[in-house]
Amino acid sequence: RKKPEHEETKNLPLRPPVVTIMGHVDHGKTRLLDAIRQTHVMESEAGGITQHIGAYQVEVKGQKITFLDTPGHEAFTAMRARGARSTDITVLVVAADDGIMPQTLEAIDHARAAGVPIVVAINKIDKPTANPDRVKQQLADHGLVVEDWGGDTIAVGTSAKERKGIDDLLENLLLVAEMEDLHADPNAPATGVVIEAEMDKSRGAMATVLVQNGSLKIGDTIVVGDTFGKVKAMFSDQGKHLRKADPSTPVAILGLPSVPGVGDSFSAVESERQARQIISERTVKKPATVSLASLH
Ligand code: GDP
Repeated sequence: RKKPEHEETKNLPLRPPVVTIMGHVDHGKTRLLDAIRQTHVMESEAGGITQHIGAYQVEVKGQKITFLDTPGHEAFTAMRARGARSTDITVLVVAADDGIMPQTLEAIDHARAAGVPIVVAINKIDKPTANPDRVKQQLADHGLVVEDWGGDTIAVGTSAKERKGIDDLLENLLLVAEMEDLHADPNAPATGVVIEAEMDKSRGAMATVLVQNGSLKIGDTIVVGDTFGKVKAMFSDQGKHLRKADPSTPVAILGLPSVPGVGDSFSAVESERQARQIISERTVKKPATVSLASLH
């Protein structure tokens, strides 16, 4: 599977893969995200406050992987509805005792529709009632034939509870990332997508953004939705203050005048003047969109 953008980007440096975890409720998405974070999170700065910012990065064999820490399909769907492709790889969590369930199928459909490769985590293998072969059969019934059955779907047995299979899973994610050949230009003006946003009582609007291309820097003016602001402060999932965020880095930012929407894309611009111009162009286009929508 080759994407056209590769032609222009292949000489640019590689960027870490961005991974989303999906699957049926109670199959272990949250616990798996916790297990990965606890096992592999990068060294936090002394005094740094780890806080939940909706995404985190781990380092495996000197390579980074970014996880969107928003289990459930809502964020993914919201982003896709706005045309933002935020995920490079989907980890499909299937509980080995429960097998494929309605939301598992939904997740498969989402990933396929977005053209995102799937790596399966057959979770809860520690349970006496676990039946990984049954899961593999069900996967095959839905077109995902695992490698040991002659297919090309990577499936890894995991126990989020006992933290087993985590390294295997992460190494396979790096393998898929390598095949996907993910590049970005760290010298371009930053562009990306909002993955979480809230009003912080003391600090004002706080948004976690995923930098998808370019590097976001303190002092950058960014346009998000129909508003703009200057990045006043940035910090990582480890609470570490950053001056610059490279491609595939999730960062919490302060400085926006209001809370942006999840799934909104952002872009760094040269000046406030340019920001205003872009927004006014967008606002002019809006009434047409509204009247079109109201026809349906
Ligand atoms: P989510 O709804 O997919 O996010 O599922 P959770 O991560 O909240 O897990 C649902 C339940 O399954 C919780 O009680 C977890 O402790 C449990 N669970 C998750 N992973 C495992 C596992 O690998 N083994 C066992 N035995 N239980 C697990």
